[in-house]
Amino acid sequence: MTPPFPGLRWLYAAGAVYLAVLAYISAQHQAYGHAAALCCTAALLLTAARRETLAARQARAAAVRAERAARAQALADEQQFAGEYARGWLALHTSCCLTAWDTGGTDHDPRHCTRKDTSA
Ligand SMILES: [Zn+2]
Repeated sequence: MTPPFPGLRWLYAAGAVYLAVLAYISAQHQAYGHAAALCCTAALLLTAARRETLAARQARAAAVRAERAARAQALADEQQFAGEYARGWLALHTSCCLTAWDTGGTDHDPRHCTRKDTSA
């Protein structure tokens, strides 16, 4: 979707007003066919201005939805990171010693652990 041009609706509206004035002047000079054609064209420009306004609203609403989704995702990522960070500290504090924490308990014998390099 192409982004709407912000001033286009005002240009359409100004053109419609100008054509309406020309239609009025044409009607004053008994050129009723010309006045009717100018009125139809002015109505066409007003319709275009309305459509441009609606397109601008839809683009703004889509931008707001995208921004909200991005913020929600950033918050979820931050919360996930905080959870992993807390779990890491908890694992460190609850392990027997740094060797047990570092190796995940695989390269560690608690029967011979001196707890010299204790984590807590
Ligand atoms: Zn240990």
